[in-house]
Amino acid sequence: MTTHLCATCAVETDGAHSADQICPICADERQYLPKGGQRWTTVEQLIADGHTLEWFEVEPNLIGLITKPSIGIGQQTMVVRGEQGCLVWDPPGLITNEAVDHIRRLGPVVAIAASHPHMFGVQLAWAEILGAPVLVNEKDAGWLQRRGDAIELWSGKRQLTSAIALYELGGHFPGSSVALWSAGADGQGVLLAGDTISANPDGTASFMRSYPNKIPLSGAVVRRLADATDRLPFDRLYNNFGAVIDTDARAVVRFSADRYAAWVRGDYDHLT
Ligand SMILES: [Zn+2]
Repeated sequence: MTTHLCATCAVETDGAHSADQICPICADERQYLPKGGQRWTTVEQLIADGHTLEWFEVEPNLIGLITKPSIGIGQQTMVVRGEQGCLVWDPPGLITNEAVDHIRRLGPVVAIAASHPHMFGVQLAWAEILGAPVLVNEKDAGWLQRRGDAIELWSGKRQLTSAIALYELGGHFPGSSVALWSAGADGQGVLLAGDTISANPDGTASFMRSYPNKIPLSGAVVRRLADATDRLPFDRLYNNFGAVIDTDARAVVRFSADRYAAWVRGDYDHLT
């Protein structure tokens, strides 16, 4: 079966689209339509054009998966290998037989889930071949461009295994979520934060309504995100492009949120 998707965000769609149809995800103020205009493609075309999936160990029992050459927004998918099964987090906009075989060797997949709609990828194509449910936060279900029986809506918290749970934090999207893997980072806990909370190049964190278009959130919302992560046991944080806050990440998120709130409140206006 052909898997159709938007060429810009790599989110799968329900059937073929014509060039005069616009992708709602890309037309939203958090993304952008490409200068050359809307384009649609298929997984089969992307493979014919030479795109592949590459995987690598990020840390023990955490596998990164990226498209080469990059497709769509270009996220780094994370596969968490737990004793009771795997989570495929922020699935890619491509699926290959080799990557499917590799994930199957890691163990049964208990769920496929995205941190937010930009990261939906071809999640239903993965679900069909892996026999796993796609968990979509109910607040963001309106952004689904393809629906199917594998989709299960959730909200609040969803425990997947004894060591893996999803938490709805909101912010970037109302249903923006994180995955807590308590066995990660040698048992100190890993937060897969998507871009609900993003890791910066200097090792701090940031928070945005739109990253490409630089639209901020309010200080109150950012502090709410940090309040939520204060209650989660983790030491390391990965964002959706593989950037990492290696240690003490919960305190880094708190510091970064307080700094952000101070800037948008005007505490540092004398420096501008
Ligand atoms: Zn799109």
